[in-house]
Amino acid sequence: MRSDPITSIVQKNLCTGCGGCAGQFPDFIRMVDDPENGRRPVVAQTPEGHKAAKVALEGCAGAATDWSKLALIDDIDRMWGPVLKTWEGWAQDTEIRHRGSSGGAVTGLAAYALDTGFAAGVAHIAARTEDPRLNEAVISRDHAGLLRGAGSRYAQASPLEAIPEIKSGDAPIVFIGKPCDVASLNKAMRHDAQLAANISLTIAIFCAGAPNLNATEQLLDTLEVPKTAKVTDLRYRGNGWPGLMQARFQTPDGTETDSKGIPYGEGWGRILQAHRRWRCRVCADHTGAFADISVGDPWHAPPKGNTDAGRSLIVARTARGQAFVEAAMQGRALVAIARDRDVIARAQPNLVATGGAIWGRRVAMRALGLAAPQDTGLKLLPLWMTLPAKQKMQSVLGTWKRVLRDRLWRRVRIADRVQ
Ligand SMILES: Cc1cc2nc3c(=O)[nH]c(=O)nc-3n(C[C@H](O)[C@H](O)[C@H](O)COP(=O)(O)OP(=O)(O)OC[C@H]3O[C@@H](n4cnc5c(N)ncnc54)[C@H](O)[C@@H]3O)c2cc1C
Ligand code: SF4
Ligand code: SF4
Repeated sequence: MRSDPITSIVQKNLCTGCGGCAGQFPDFIRMVDDPENGRRPVVAQTPEGHKAAKVALEGCAGAATDWSKLALIDDIDRMWGPVLKTWEGWAQDTEIRHRGSSGGAVTGLAAYALDTGFAAGVAHIAARTEDPRLNEAVISRDHAGLLRGAGSRYAQASPLEAIPEIKSGDAPIVFIGKPCDVASLNKAMRHDAQLAANISLTIAIFCAGAPNLNATEQLLDTLEVPKTAKVTDLRYRGNGWPGLMQARFQTPDGTETDSKGIPYGEGWGRILQAHRRWRCRVCADHTGAFADISVGDPWHAPPKGNTDAGRSLIVARTARGQAFVEAAMQGRALVAIARDRDVIARAQPNLVATGGAIWGRRVAMRALGLAAPQDTGLKLLPLWMTLPAKQKMQSVLGTWKRVLRDRLWRRVRIADRVQ
């Protein structure tokens, strides 16, 4: 039997792990945690499985996205996706602000949606209770559930596995995910009226790339969690801005202990970022162009310590998103101060450089006959042209070096196991 289209997306390194295909066809496609390649779909190799994969491809943003219907009016929009209005702010609720990754704006907005009846539930991800090294898609209907998800998880997560539960109700749901998760949801909604009818708002977190499970294991080693211990909690961010990376574990004699904590910058810079998947390095949307609202860190005014009171950078992408942020401000759920629309570039210098390199990386891939994402209506060449000559060259030569080093021409095969 020939390979199905979803398996082919995985094999060609185009899958982002959003979980949309599995969420649409849970009887035939399931997500598995591969320690090296990420959380990826495995399709039943039956005629029904192949049929499901063919339809699921229509909602897969890993393969392709269409930017032509987005309102890209000026250079700021063309660089970051539609930017209607920007603010710097935080959740009014002090616990949400403290537990949140930056200023708890995402959880604060989600809590406001539940409190006002704007939504009956919020689809997001949270650490798995029985194994916090891994994540699960959940729908929360109260603050306690939302707080389980507060704080970014720099690990693989597939929030679109919640699609069956989103569709099963007749009440609106707010969806939270990474830019690629929101992009797939957006695509799937175009083909699924019931799904579209049940989504009242989408919120994306900024994302430089999701590390794999091997990265989490390396982090646990650095945090000096014994190999024989059972991890009972693992935080990558939050409890202040930007927060410490810290685990809690139980030793075989039943004693529960907090591990040492390391600053977020050290954990990301020294361990996690090197384990981002190749798909993330050719990702053209790190800030959630397809969402109603996007939230990231205002790094242009960084915290002085590791656990300062947090602040978030909030971007309204649609009129619906802008109205919701303004209502949350009026409803005293969110404290926010308007900022100039060009604040994103000042806040995210690393993403400016990454955005510029994408055209070069993709051209380098295609020159070797390797697949790259197909994003129509997105003009990557002008962004690449703004790079200094050395960086232009690096984007191409660095890609070829990585293709050789990581043998990226090999088909990705998913190991269906977690140790
Ligand atoms: C892998 C990764 C890379 C990131 N890279 C950047 C970056 O380059 N620049 C930047 O400014 N910000 C980045 N962030 C986002 C940043 O860490 C904060 O999430 C953002 O500022 C929102 O903070 P908050 O306090 O408002 O959110 P919170 O109130 O803490 O809420 C965070 C929400 O995100 C959801 N979430 C957490 N982890 C994941 C995940 N892995 N997949 C899907 N949903 C998730 C949670 O369920 C929760 O609902 C990244 C986050 C992740 C997970
Ligand atoms: S990107 Fe999402 S929809 Fe596409 S194959 Fe991967 S998990 Fe499935
Ligand atoms: S970098 Fe892009 S593809 Fe990778 S997890 Fe983030 S949004 Fe998804």
